[in-house]
Amino acid sequence: MREEFNHLVKAVYHKWKLDQGPVREKHPGEEELACFGLGVLADDLALRIKTHLLLCPECMEAFLFSLSLRQTEEREVPAHLLELVKAAGKPGVKSYVLEIIIQAREKLLELVNTTGDVLVGLELIPAPVLRSRKIREFKNEIVILKDIEDIRVEVRVERKLPEVFNIKVSAKEKPALAWAKDLRISLLKDGVELESYVAEQGKAVFEQVACGRYIMELSGIGGGTAELLLEIRP
Ligand SMILES: [Zn+2]
Repeated sequence: MREEFNHLVKAVYHKWKLDQGPVREKHPGEEELACFGLGVLADDLALRIKTHLLLCPECMEAFLFSLSLRQTEEREVPAHLLELVKAAGKPGVKSYVLEIIIQAREKLLELVNTTGDVLVGLELIPAPVLRSRKIREFKNEIVILKDIEDIRVEVRVERKLPEVFNIKVSAKEKPALAWAKDLRISLLKDGVELESYVAEQGKAVFEQVACGRYIMELSGIGGGTAELLLEIRP
């Protein structure tokens, strides 16, 4: 299991590296997904598809849909598929386009969990790779990036006092990475809007934010609203 996990992390990292360049792995076909679901693929191909599913929401959705169709025919879902579904998100728990959970320790910030890519020095590292390298601790600042449709969102959490933070959110349009226009960025806590900005330059700064669980709303992305979760634990 442990070995399989390491293998998966390596595969995810490898794919991520590939994605940085112009070569993008193509989506598996319907037949391939079906064979994967049946567990009849060769190990290396199965691993590639598993990795792809974890990184590609569209294929994951198509796959889960095909799985739900199959479930009506047969009762039991194989363990390796259940595992994958669990990794894709627990049912009933709302999932956000980006999750960031930080623990504010006395002398450092610990990144408990994120679904984004983390900027370490000049390197952008996906969270699973970060975990495999056991990088969890940061000084006074954590920078997380996530592509939401054609917008690249950056969330920068800066510690100002032991339990007071500045949150800087910026959004750039891909592929040119020009500042996104006409974006509204809001910070909410317990369903109440605390602050909201029209980000003309694609940037918003929320100052003096205390520890807590916040939702950030970005309206204007693809005509809809993207919800991000930011939790800073005291
Ligand atoms: Zn895909």
